Amino acid sequence: MQTHEERLAKQRAWREAHLEETRAKDRVRYATQRAQRQAYLEASRERRLAQQRLYAFEHREQQPANGRAYEARHRAERVAKNRAYHKEHREEILQKKRAYRATHGEEIRAYTRAYRAVHKEELLAYCRDYDASHREARQAYRDAHREARAAYVAGRLEEKRAKDGAYRATHREALLAMQRVYRTQHREDLTAKQCAYAAAHPEIRRAAQHRRRARKAGAPISDFTAAQWREMQEYYDHCCAYCGTRAKGHLTQDHLTPLSAGGSHTVSNVIPACRSCNSRKGTGAPLQPVQPLLLTVAPARRGPSSPGWAVPV
Ligand SMILES: [Zn+2]
Repeated sequence: MQTHEERLAKQRAWREAHLEETRAKDRVRYATQRAQRQAYLEASRERRLAQQRLYAFEHREQQPANGRAYEARHRAERVAKNRAYHKEHREEILQKKRAYRATHGEEIRAYTRAYRAVHKEELLAYCRDYDASHREARQAYRDAHREARAAYVAGRLEEKRAKDGAYRATHREALLAMQRVYRTQHREDLTAKQCAYAAAHPEIRRAAQHRRRARKAGAPISDFTAAQWREMQEYYDHCCAYCGTRAKGHLTQDHLTPLSAGGSHTVSNVIPACRSCNSRKGTGAPLQPVQPLLLTVAPARRGPSSPGWAVPV
């Protein structure tokens, strides 16, 4: 009679002698079992889902409450756990985030844009609420950091200008389109603003009209500003450059080389003249030699963007 130990030893010896064969058999058996289980799950899938749905339906009142109760009971615990994990793996997590951001920049930006577009009103409301409820704190922060902020801005002025310029250059079309949309949406507002500004600054409006007329007449340069005209009249003490008559508020702009002869509407070609001298000169040569006013502290207009002024057509 074999003892138990003897039988086990024999089995082990047999397995060791037939290792490959045994393993192959095991593999076949496991594969068959897996396939059977898979087939069972697939065949019973509909039934199981139906059961789950039924259960969920029958316990629908209870489930969210259960979930919430569980959440509430374990909230502190969960938060503490998360915090501890985060603290322990801080560097690793930050590293992962940085890596993700670096490789998924476009995706993140697209997602953010889409989110902002969908939740625009919500976000604006949130910002308004936040601003309103933190007004004093924000003001205090600004006051406390005023100098640091000014220093920071001053230190990065050149960099910012270069960056802004580059951005404008690469986004020209988009910016123009945005401007067009804004102008269309705020047409009445802008017109009212322009009218108010025009009423308050008639001399700027006149200067713009003069420039426009000069451009139409084919002047090569047309950059004479209201400020330059004001300064020029003060320099001449509001007297006609030809006859010396004082005519404050009634001086006209005479072009030394007439616009019709290809003269420019610019500070070096304009001289203040009384109406009578100006009409006597007409399109002829200056009535007598005059020195154009070359020195002026008022800068010439730099371009159509400054100052924001459009001549009503
Ligand atoms: Zn005169």
